[in-house]
Amino acid sequence: MILVRTLLFAGAVLVAAAALAALRAGMLAVGVLVVGLLGLSLYHAFYLQRLHHWAGLPRQRELPYGFGSWGHAFDRLGRHMRQDEGERAETAAELERIHAAVDLLPDGLVVLDRFDHVQWSNRAAQDLHGIFGTRRPVDHFVRQPEFLAYLRDGDFTRPVTMALPSAPGRRFSLKIVPTDDAYRLLITRDVTESTRVEQMRRDFVANVSHEIRTPLTVVAGFVETLLEMDLPADERRRCLEMVRRQTGTMQRLVEDLLTLATLEATSQSPETDAVAVEPLLQAVLADVRALSGGRHALVLEAASPAGLRGSPTELDSAVRNLLTNAIRYTPDGGTITVGWRVFDGEGILSVRDTGIGIAAEHLPRLTERFYRVDRGRSRETGGTGLGLAIVKHVAQRHHARLDIDSRIGVGSTFSLRFPPSRVAPPAAMKATESAASGHPATLPAERAGEQPDAPKPA
Ligand code: ADP
Repeated sequence: MILVRTLLFAGAVLVAAAALAALRAGMLAVGVLVVGLLGLSLYHAFYLQRLHHWAGLPRQRELPYGFGSWGHAFDRLGRHMRQDEGERAETAAELERIHAAVDLLPDGLVVLDRFDHVQWSNRAAQDLHGIFGTRRPVDHFVRQPEFLAYLRDGDFTRPVTMALPSAPGRRFSLKIVPTDDAYRLLITRDVTESTRVEQMRRDFVANVSHEIRTPLTVVAGFVETLLEMDLPADERRRCLEMVRRQTGTMQRLVEDLLTLATLEATSQSPETDAVAVEPLLQAVLADVRALSGGRHALVLEAASPAGLRGSPTELDSAVRNLLTNAIRYTPDGGTITVGWRVFDGEGILSVRDTGIGIAAEHLPRLTERFYRVDRGRSRETGGTGLGLAIVKHVAQRHHARLDIDSRIGVGSTFSLRFPPSRVAPPAAMKATESAASGHPATLPAERAGEQPDAPKPA
């Protein structure tokens, strides 16, 4: 457009000069030519100079005002600039949104340049590594020798796991993710939970193997003896009874493991039908009486006609485990009392014994799988080390709390405290009473029935 206008203007000057020359006004023609072309040059030079000056100003400068073709050119330039400005603002807002989102990530994220200098970091990385500002080397903030060695070795296929002083007691995995030549990312993730779960899994496998190996070794030994030696009948019988006892232990272990697995696999709360507690306690008491073999006084104290909303199978299993323990850890002549009462709206199911008691330091770990105060005694009495873990699971699934109160040489009380929402008024149970008092189908093995010749607790 500028070119066309310039050519038109120059053409007009030339035509005017030519016309004047034709009219024999030579001087005037030269004047028109000089003034016209000089004016045109000055006009362009003037605006070029303004444009040049404007281009040298900092950003956000006002465009110069232009006349004629230059006015149009400046208008057009202004439009482009406004469009660019809008796009830049949009990009900046988008970047801001991405930064805000990345800031919310629980994982630490640091963008590093190829010299491992911090380019950008999110809030989690700033909190975890104390990173501030940019352009400082990352090892200025992350100084752990494990990380420095990781950075130096340059093998980023695996993360490196370590503790950080900013979060005592927790474990973190730090991983460098190369993106391109210019940048790489450092991602820091809290792996405390997964490390704990992995450790638990390893411990569990080791424990189960150990628990099974011990009776298995005994069984293998006796079978070997029976095969190799020609024993008299009473010796043979003694051997076979030992084999039966050890296989019973393994059977109970597998059954308890299956019960635990079932409890863990079902995440939803058990049914909320009302279970009649007293008949359930009577049924379990009748079953475990054989284990006591008349050596203990077994007392039922059902002080409330109320019921419990939950699974009869699971409640039966919890009470059975508590009662079995009470019998196994209470010397002859002791008293075992199973109680049910409602106090302050809470339903309290308790098993109290006058047994050997438990030292206070063991109480916090008692419900861990395979935790025993006295390993030998637990084995001798046919324990699997899983009974209280099952009770704890049942309690959790019913939103109940397991309280353990015990004194060495005096006895122990295990109480399951159910919230008011789990306590059912007597009227609500009429329909389910008969079901609750029956023998549930998926109970763990009844320990009493499986080891008729279990040694008596001391
Ligand atoms: P176990 O099969 O070994 O009895 P539990 O999980 O049922 O496993 O119990 C864990 C440990 O708690 C037992 O080994 C025992 O030392 C202790 N314990 C449980 N109940 C009682 C109790 N009523 N009196 C004394 N000690 C108990």
